[in-house]
Amino acid sequence: KAKQQGRNAYAWFSHDINEVANERVSLRNDLQEAIDHQGFELHYQPLFNRHGRIDSVEALLRWPHPIKGYISPARFIPLAEATGQIMPISEWVLQRACKDMLKLQRSGLGELRVAVNLSPLQFHRDSFLATLRQTLLDTGLPAEQLALELTEGILMDNTDAAINILNELHTMQVSVSIDDFGTGYSSLSYLKHLPISTIKIDRSFISEITNSDGDSAIVQGVISMAHHLGLNVVAEGVETNEQHQRLLAYRCDLFQGFGLAKPMPLAELERLMAEQEVSTATNS
Ligand code: C2E
Ligand code: MG
Ligand code: MG
Ligand code: MG
Repeated sequence: KAKQQGRNAYAWFSHDINEVANERVSLRNDLQEAIDHQGFELHYQPLFNRHGRIDSVEALLRWPHPIKGYISPARFIPLAEATGQIMPISEWVLQRACKDMLKLQRSGLGELRVAVNLSPLQFHRDSFLATLRQTLLDTGLPAEQLALELTEGILMDNTDAAINILNELHTMQVSVSIDDFGTGYSSLSYLKHLPISTIKIDRSFISEITNSDGDSAIVQGVISMAHHLGLNVVAEGVETNEQHQRLLAYRCDLFQGFGLAKPMPLAELERLMAEQEVSTATNS
């Protein structure tokens, strides 16, 4: 009986694995469709300064799946990394972001800096810097208007190579932010010798900032440390006015979150920026 049960359990288990594998294969094929036929969208979430004005935006990839609806990048980016499909996707993101910022500028809405998220695979490719330079050249976006977001893990993987790339980016005047700060295992020592401009404190610390003494202490400490090192600080995932007020009191520099603005298509960003222009004009 036990044997039979075991066999059943095995049959059930292997069926489950097949299902997961099939799901992955089908998602991978659908991803390829999207790569081949321009099936992605790029949305933008504003980062606000202490005066409540848009400082810059973060580009966030969106995949409207023909049947399943929007699939989260948290789900398909890891898959695309495993299959290598992240490379063509990343190139598309970078180009789209550069072109969109120039489009904003041509509409008379001013120069805006855009931050693009980097995948570890992309960062460690030998061709990374060459591709980046070529994209800036092809699109005509000034390098100062581009920022790259990388996670602590990327810097830990391969330190010497990472330092060289960061120095090169610094020379090019492309700025670098550390994303999801505080969630990696890295030591803090890289902060003092790497040319990084900004730290983005992970949402998990911000969400409890008004009810957890621990999180509030960590956030204050990180902001103070960053300022002493000459770095800017972004709070990620600001959802409530209370959190925003608290972060203002802690001298945080920039604010990003659903409570301020959600990621949006370019057309909506254009409208938001136009409104901001109008309100500044009437306030002054
Ligand atoms: P991330 O870079 O840390 O981006 C911030 C994520 O937090 C975004 O999720 C954004 O929509 C979400 N978010 C912003 N404000 C709030 C808030 O107030 N509350 C909550 N609950 N969430 C908020 P999204 O767009 O789903 O992206 C998830 C992750 O996928 C990103 O995390 C980033 O690591 C990755 N990703 C997104 N676009 C790209 C891309 O073009 N290339 C690469 N390599 N990765 C990307
Ligand atoms: Mg990011
Ligand atoms: Mg982040
Ligand atoms: Mg995050």
